Amino acid sequence: MNKIPPFDLSEQYKLIGEEINAAVLGVLASGHYIGGATVEQFEQQLANYIGTSDCVACNSGTDALYLALRALNIGPGDEVITTPFTFVATAEVVSAVGATPIFVDIEAHTFNLDPEQVEQAITERTRAILPVHLFGQPVDMTRLMAIAQHHNLTVIEDCAQSTGAVWAEQKVGSIGHVGCFSFYPTKNLGACGDGGAVTTNDPQVAATIRMLRDHGRRSGGYYHEAIGVNSRLDAIQAAILQIKLRYLDTWNSQRRTIADRYQQLLQHVPGIALPQEPANGRSVWNQYTLRILSTEPQPSASGQSTPGNRRDQVRQQLQQVGVSSMIYYPLPLHQQPIYKVHGQPSRSLLIAEQTAGEVLSLPMFPELSPDQQDQVVYSLKDLLA
Ligand SMILES: *Cc1c(COP(=O)(O)O)cnc(C)c1O
Repeated sequence: MNKIPPFDLSEQYKLIGEEINAAVLGVLASGHYIGGATVEQFEQQLANYIGTSDCVACNSGTDALYLALRALNIGPGDEVITTPFTFVATAEVVSAVGATPIFVDIEAHTFNLDPEQVEQAITERTRAILPVHLFGQPVDMTRLMAIAQHHNLTVIEDCAQSTGAVWAEQKVGSIGHVGCFSFYPTKNLGACGDGGAVTTNDPQVAATIRMLRDHGRRSGGYYHEAIGVNSRLDAIQAAILQIKLRYLDTWNSQRRTIADRYQQLLQHVPGIALPQEPANGRSVWNQYTLRILSTEPQPSASGQSTPGNRRDQVRQQLQQVGVSSMIYYPLPLHQQPIYKVHGQPSRSLLIAEQTAGEVLSLPMFPELSPDQQDQVVYSLKDLLA
């Protein structure tokens, strides 16, 4: 039996390796390794693709979020409303700037934060809402922007898993005040190393981020007006990203084909719940994540997987027949050791907690073949029959 990985980056390199090699060698020969024309071209191309006036590249998706918060002057005393069901970086940066993440519960069918819960969590300290378009699935931005406008709040979109996703005819990252992207290799637009970017239609915010990402200076000289960081994008990564950006729509539509096929082949399988794409949105399927419905109360208070967890059993059995799946994410952030004390949730987040005990992400990458996908589906059906 062939082994099927959760993702496989080597297939993509086989496809465009020659182009990548030439671009990397070109940068090496140029002698310009940090900043410069290659990075600026990429920033312009990404701004055009997302549909914003400005884009500032930086060293990671985490830094993109951090720099955005800093540029928007969010800090001690401020509250930022976000989801507990995400990668830690989303909330970590809120804490890193001295503000407090306020976690609200998610919607069971999209895994994304619930706009109604957001509205209820707003206090006089709330400064911003930080939605995550999780697994490539866009948040209801129409509703969220209406809430933000009504309460005069800033919206920072975490687009790390959703480059190219669309809500109501607009790309995510162009709807809120800023969009934060990650080019971690397994993201939809992935570099061959770390990278990130912020998109915005506010030139002043863009200029502040440029200043902060380069030690708080504006012109590359030795005059520093703020405590900044060193978070620049390497020219080699920018050159690689320029190439990959040209393929992104093709890869995203291949992911869509695979997701549609999973939906079709798994639709009548008992004991699972499939992801639902919102009517107004187009997901880019960074992950194909379903629920293995639990029969017992979920999960244990420690967040540790319990021996009887059905999802964990299914995952193990899949592994035994060569199918690798992943758990994004096993423990919601409000239950993490770092947030048990600080940033106490004001209400229980039952859907996020239950979800963490049920989710399973099946193999998903543009080059996953129909044969491989059949093996995943038949193995899963076999186990659940
Ligand atoms: C990957 C990711 C990040 C962080 O991006 P890095 O480039 O790894 O720093 C932030 N938020 C979410 C939702 C992510 O998936």
